[in-house]
Amino acid sequence: MIRVLPPEVVGKIAAGEVVERPFSVVKELVENSIDAGATRIIVELEDGGRSLVRVTDDGRGMSVADLELAFVQHATSKLEDVGDLDAIVSLGFRGEALASIGAVSRARILSREANAIEGAEVRAEGGVVTEVRPAAAAQGTVIEIRDLFCNVPARRRFLKTPQGERQRCLEVLQKLALSHPDVGFRIEAGRTIDLPPRETLRRRIGRLFGRQTEARALAVQHERGGVGVDGLVVDPDGARRDRAQQHLFVNGRPIRDRSLSHAVEDAYREYLMGGRFPVVFLFITLDPAKVDVNVHPTKSEVRFVEGRLVYSAVRSAVIEALAQRTGRVAERGAGAVGAVQPMTGFPELPRGLFGQSEGIGASFGKLAALPRSQSEPPLGAPLPLSPFQGVSCFLVLQDLYILLETDAGFAIVDQHALHERVVYEKLLAAYRAGNVAVQRLLVPAVVELPPADKDLLLEHVDALRATGLLIADFGGVAVQLEGYPAPLRRPDPEALIGGLVRELREVGDVGEPEALHERLHSRACRSAVMAGDKLADAEIEELLKAAAKLEHPHNCPHGRPTVVSFTTGQLERWFKRRV
Ligand code: ADP
Ligand code: MG
Repeated sequence: MIRVLPPEVVGKIAAGEVVERPFSVVKELVENSIDAGATRIIVELEDGGRSLVRVTDDGRGMSVADLELAFVQHATSKLEDVGDLDAIVSLGFRGEALASIGAVSRARILSREANAIEGAEVRAEGGVVTEVRPAAAAQGTVIEIRDLFCNVPARRRFLKTPQGERQRCLEVLQKLALSHPDVGFRIEAGRTIDLPPRETLRRRIGRLFGRQTEARALAVQHERGGVGVDGLVVDPDGARRDRAQQHLFVNGRPIRDRSLSHAVEDAYREYLMGGRFPVVFLFITLDPAKVDVNVHPTKSEVRFVEGRLVYSAVRSAVIEALAQRTGRVAERGAGAVGAVQPMTGFPELPRGLFGQSEGIGASFGKLAALPRSQSEPPLGAPLPLSPFQGVSCFLVLQDLYILLETDAGFAIVDQHALHERVVYEKLLAAYRAGNVAVQRLLVPAVVELPPADKDLLLEHVDALRATGLLIADFGGVAVQLEGYPAPLRRPDPEALIGGLVRELREVGDVGEPEALHERLHSRACRSAVMAGDKLADAEIEELLKAAAKLEHPHNCPHGRPTVVSFTTGQLERWFKRRV
């Protein structure tokens, strides 16, 4: 099964060290077990993998001939000629892992194939390989790596503390467990982690990240232009302060890719505040010939032949998945408002608060098309009174917050965030319908800006015009704003143009036209709504009425919440009327 690779193939393979630290050993060994069709894999670590990594699997095992070649450089059963490099499917492909590991440790392989009468073992110590000897073994393979870098003191010194190495090993194992929920894992590294075989991705995420993450996960299923995107994305409520839980896989292999992270974050943009990052588990599948996994020896970076296609598939997939959330939120809103812990952390966002004033059909516009779930209350059930019906009772605090009595308790609306959202959806609807009303300025506003920014802006004049923003060259270092979308209230030209430039710079050339327009619109809205603007009562009523028709009422286009709601139950607990 194992053959030595011809030198021309070896030459084509990205050079580099396979073994860097214990986690690379863990990764290579477990990938080999998966490649061997294992259904259960046991990983034991001692000293964070520094003194021992032992991987035991129930895979197909290795023959005596296999064992003879296992520690030989560039011996692999998975690749035969140069052509295969274009379509790499199995996880391992360089045939150098075992040889490299065997050269810098005390290694031992014990294995038995399913139909073999007895097993065999081979050892390597600092690259010196022993004869293959018969040995008693269960079906499958045990690979034991002791004292990594025992003969390379310089490398050994660079190892982190046992806890540090252990942590990296666990991260690698987590990725492997996520991409193979069908495979059972037992990880013994101080404490034992047991992941049974044949799990769904959702269940496995529950085991690894907790029940709450599992419950908050929304299914992703998308296919476009030969690019499949599947997996789960976690509801924005479960967002984190870092990107550590963005798990992306391409053809089963964990990857890091800035452009794809951007695609994910762009899809979440409307739901998340700055500084908060989505939690996603996305599996991208595409023709292996259209992705180069061989860019980097540790194989976590990839290069796509059609980067834009993959970008937009990922972005659309996440947007579609998040749309289910609107449905879920509204569904819960029609019933009781969920119990909220008072005064701890970030308040829970209201559910369906804005959606109820005109009955399900009218106000749930988009929702009506979604299948209704079983848990939704019967249509005849009384809906909670809407805070926007009649709008007789509201109180404005600090010219900014609107306090509303609601059926379930009370709510506080950030009038500017809400206004931004209302204007934004108006603009977007007009843009999509192709009739953006433009307010022309009698006297164009002249704004000066650095030459590079000016060029960037002028490059996009057409996209800007479609958005309702009329911008022209004024000569010198200036541009002039000649008109803006009518729904904006008195935009500040400097803030508007500065913001547009920033948006254009950020989108770069990864975005699609639709994404660009959404960003320009959202930026335009922000500049149009100034905190501290005092609204007349009639304007507030107008605003609350418009809010009832919003598609995404809970966040401003930049992800800040528009409204925070509280239940009567909370009030009662705060005042100790109830426990
Ligand atoms: P590669 O995985 O790139 O082929 P490796 O050095 O990791 O290179 O492994 C060399 C060969 O040893 C593999 O091609 C495979 O045939 C065999 N092998 C390694 N680990 C296992 C295992 N756990 N079960 C069965 N065969 C294995
Ligand atoms: Mg391998």
